[in-house]
This record gives sequence, C-alpha cells and structure tokens, in this order.
Amino acid sequence: MEQKVVLITGASRGIGAAAARRFAAGGCRVVVNYHRARAQAEALAAEIGGWAVQADVADPLQVQKMIDNVLDKFCQLDILICNAGVAQQKLFGDLTDADWRRIFAVNVDGVFHTIRAALPHLIHRKAGRIVTVSSMWGQVGGSCEAAYSAAKAAVIGLTRALAKELGPSGITVNCVSPGVIRTDMNANLDAETMAALAEETPLGAIGAPEDVAEAMWYLASDAARFVTGQVLAPNGGLVI
Ligand code: NAP
Repeated sequence: MEQKVVLITGASRGIGAAAARRFAAGGCRVVVNYHRARAQAEALAAEIGGWAVQADVADPLQVQKMIDNVLDKFCQLDILICNAGVAQQKLFGDLTDADWRRIFAVNVDGVFHTIRAALPHLIHRKAGRIVTVSSMWGQVGGSCEAAYSAAKAAVIGLTRALAKELGPSGITVNCVSPGVIRTDMNANLDAETMAALAEETPLGAIGAPEDVAEAMWYLASDAARFVTGQVLAPNGGLVI
C-alpha cells in the first residue's frame, strides 16, 4: 500500500506528539509542525523518521510556505491533523482584545489557514482526510474559558460545513473533541483538581494523549471512509 503523508500541526508536544507517533507506527510519513519547541520537534522527528517544520499556524504566509515545502518534498499530502491550539483561563471581563484575538488566531484561523493551503492539492487528487481538534468546552462551554470555548465551538461548525462542501470531492472532515488530557496545557491544574476531575469522569481517569491519537488515527483511516462531519469525543464520558 502507498505510504500516506500526514501533516500534524502542533506536534512537538502533548496530543500532537502522540499522534505523530501513532501515525508513524501505522506506516505514515509524518510532518511534525511546531511553533516554538524546535528541539522537541526535531527530536521527535528523528525518533519516528519524520520531518519537523516550523510555522505559526496563525500566520497564513507561514502556513502556505509549510504546505508548499511539504508538497515539494513528498509530492503528496493525504491527511491533515489540525491540532495546534492554545488555551487561557480568565474571567470574561478580564479578557483583552489581544487575548481574544490570539485564542481565535491559533485555534480557529490556524485551522482555516492549514486547510485552505492544502485544499487545492486534496481536491485535485479527489481524496483526503481532515481531522480538526475541538474540546469538550467547545461542546458545552467552560467557565473562565469563554474565548477558548467559543473558538473550539467554531471549529465544530467549520468541520460540519466543510464536510458537506468537500464530501463530493472525496474528502472527509471530522473532529476530535477531547476531555481532560494529561499534557502541558493542563500543567496549571494542581493534583487535587486533577483528582477531582478524574472522579467526576465516568471512566474514572484523566485521559492520555494516546487516547486522542487513537481517535485521530481512526478518523484518518480507511475504516472511517463513510464517516464525515462527525465529532468523536475521547473524554471518558465526562461530557455525553
Ligand atoms: P500542548 O501540550 O500545550 O501542546 C500544544 C501544541 O500546539 C504544541 O506542539 C505547540 O507548539 C503547538 N502550538 C501552539 N501554538 C501554535 C502555533 N501558533 N502554531 C503552531 N503550533 C502551535 O497542548 P495539547 O494538550 O497537546 O493540545 C493539543 C490540542 O488539543 C489543542 O488544540 C487543544 O486545544 C486540544 N485539547 C486539549 C485538551 C487537554 O486537556 N490537553 C483538551 C481538549 C482539547 P510549540 O511547542 O512549538 O509551541
């Protein structure tokens, strides 16, 4: 079988890094996008035989250059995992314009830029798998996470609309919506809070990045060829 090429944004750490390992283990050539964590991205790329590429997904020119470089190198791009994201906990009244813009620039514009840049290639080949990343807060709203919740809800809306638009071109668009996952994003939560969240979760645990990576792998696989516009939520049952 032809080796698939997958671009994973925000793959230097956390969920994206677990996804990079999962897709490499599944036989894909993996492009490890990162923003700042160059050493981690390059170490991961060396570990899995992938390729580390720097780009701030909030910047359309950097994203276009990244996609052009991927296509120059591999002449093909089969799977996009739009995973790069940033979160912020603040009271709504304390959010600045800059806070709001940055949350949307990375979490929403980043997905827009990445898909837009890759789309001509995917449409030309009449094939492709796109997986976006929301959050349970995008589904139900999180207190002190209004900007993040709104941005992640936008990702779900974008996923559903694009699934309808791109289905006739042979491209599926699905979303993973994780619950609480043990990554740097939750490093600010103390042990007591994490224990309380685990207790509140029907499956009684905090998720691992690998739990989300498996959901991404499924949605990008041939097994999911008739699945599009869906939100798959690896969250231990915290949000049902
Ligand atoms: P993380 O450990 O904080 O890692 C974030 C990743 O995103 C890093 O690789 C980072 O790259 C990259 N990134 C951040 N800003 C970027 C930008 N402007 N351009 C390119 N890459 C950028 O986060 P995570 O927990 O793995 O989260 C991954 C995704 O899952 C995010 O979309 C997040 O919102 C979502 N999510 C996470 C949880 C959770 O509980 N952890 C729950 C629901 C949803 P650098 O390291 O190079 O800066």
